[in-house]
Amino acid sequence: MNGPPGSLAPKLEPPSQEVALYEIRKRIHPRAVHGWFAGWRWTLVFLTQAIFYGLPWLSWNGRQAVLFDLAARKFYIFGAVFWPQDVIYLAVLLIVAALALFLFTAIAGRVWCGYACPQTVYTEIFLWIERRIEGERLARIRLDAARWSLDKLVRRAVKHVSWLAVALWTGYTFVGYFSPIHDLGVSVLTRSLGPWESFWILFYGFATYGNAGFMREQVCKYMCPYARFQSVMFDKDTLVITYDRERGEPRGARARSVDPRQKGIGDCVDCGICVQVCPTGIDIRNGLQYECIGCAACIDGCNQVMDKMSYPRGLIRYATENALARNLDAHSIQKRMLRPRMLIYGALLLAIIAIAAGSLAMRNPLKVDVIRDRGALARESVPGLIENVYRLQLMNTDETPRRFTIAAAGLPGIAVVGVEQPIAIGPASTRLIALRVQVPVDDADRDENHERGRDERHEEGRGDGRHEERRHGALEPGPHKIEFTISAVEDQEVVRHEKSSFIVPRRCHLAGVVPPPLALAADGRAVPGCHGVAGERVGRGAQR
Ligand code: SF4
Ligand code: SF4
Repeated sequence: MNGPPGSLAPKLEPPSQEVALYEIRKRIHPRAVHGWFAGWRWTLVFLTQAIFYGLPWLSWNGRQAVLFDLAARKFYIFGAVFWPQDVIYLAVLLIVAALALFLFTAIAGRVWCGYACPQTVYTEIFLWIERRIEGERLARIRLDAARWSLDKLVRRAVKHVSWLAVALWTGYTFVGYFSPIHDLGVSVLTRSLGPWESFWILFYGFATYGNAGFMREQVCKYMCPYARFQSVMFDKDTLVITYDRERGEPRGARARSVDPRQKGIGDCVDCGICVQVCPTGIDIRNGLQYECIGCAACIDGCNQVMDKMSYPRGLIRYATENALARNLDAHSIQKRMLRPRMLIYGALLLAIIAIAAGSLAMRNPLKVDVIRDRGALARESVPGLIENVYRLQLMNTDETPRRFTIAAAGLPGIAVVGVEQPIAIGPASTRLIALRVQVPVDDADRDENHERGRDERHEEGRGDGRHEERRHGALEPGPHKIEFTISAVEDQEVVRHEKSSFIVPRRCHLAGVVPPPLALAADGRAVPGCHGVAGERVGRGAQR
């Protein structure tokens, strides 16, 4: 309200002001910096890029050492081959990555962002190229402001061609993890790249070019979700890059010969170098900001100034909120790192890594899927001998060729027929095996039929009969539990036991008929009838 209540004076509206929805970007030209942390950053750049660019060119057992073959649904990582059934390891990897991120962020803030994040690493590489071609910070600012000339055109053209070369090589390397990189090279040279390979090389390449060449700090400030939720992982004992306000203020320029204590000023000479070296263009003296990626460039920059002024280093340094508030020394800071949260994260991380490593080391290279034949649930091959049909998918998941035998157990007289054994399976290969399981069904016929079945199996030269059982007793109609045992001939440690069920229809064969198709009740039990003629298919539907 303007004026007293009841006043007839006109109300004064505040003048309208147009506020931009988006802040106009100020182009940042970070100054080059040298020092201990810059050394670590470059070490991480070399290390991560040596791994990224180098790995796909390594060979192992005559194939690419690391290859994520999506078409064949197999991931090769040196000696290990991962199949879709191993997706649990991918889940474990994601859990370990998330826990490690929580742990390291709680200890030392955004170390990942500052040293190893691809956005930081590629921005560092692209900035290095820019410096080589356009010069240091002031030269780049001048070139930006200058009118177009031949010199500017040439410099800009060389810079962009160099950036594009790095970006496309990055895209090519990325696709080389999913498609054999040597073949990919041949396809590029012969211009016979497939549409998907072309798309992903260009997509990944231009994403690198755009993010590291143009977007730079904008990705960290506006696109990366991690910057937004990092603060929830921080506490008062998290190491963050901090300006020591108590020591630095009041800031001000002075000659080297002046004693700041006598002049009543702090150690900050207000040179602005910490701002000039910052890739996100912030002033760390204003306190911790979400834009700070924790690269520590300002520490190196400020330490150089402190050296020149003959002041102690560390006006900007890694410190914790508690350390600054209570003047803790380095030893006390380290001791406070071992707080319960860290111990829980650390213990969980170690436990998960140990369990995953143990499980990988003891991984059974044989995987088996037993599939009941959907077309024929149960039939009577000869009177008194019931037969079920199965398909077994055998996967030899490592790189040793193996031979396997299949046996069945769980019912009297049970035998596997209709498959030539042993079954050879090549390295990292899979085979779908169709087989029949026969069981004699009544006391009167069992011996005769058992012998008949045995004769048949011997004639066919199939079935090893190791698990045949000669117990007597009537078999109830319906499903019966059985177990397949698949074992490697050369290595008895490689063995799998797979449970399944064997369907016995009602014993109608004595009357010369066999049951009609079985219906499956809601609980999965077969409900047999008693019609039809001998030898007719008696089942449909499927059940593991
Ligand atoms: S404030 Fe310092 S640590 Fe943070 S981004 Fe800028 S230079 Fe890096
Ligand atoms: S670099 Fe150090 S001395 Fe220079 S302005 Fe930043 S904090 Fe102050």
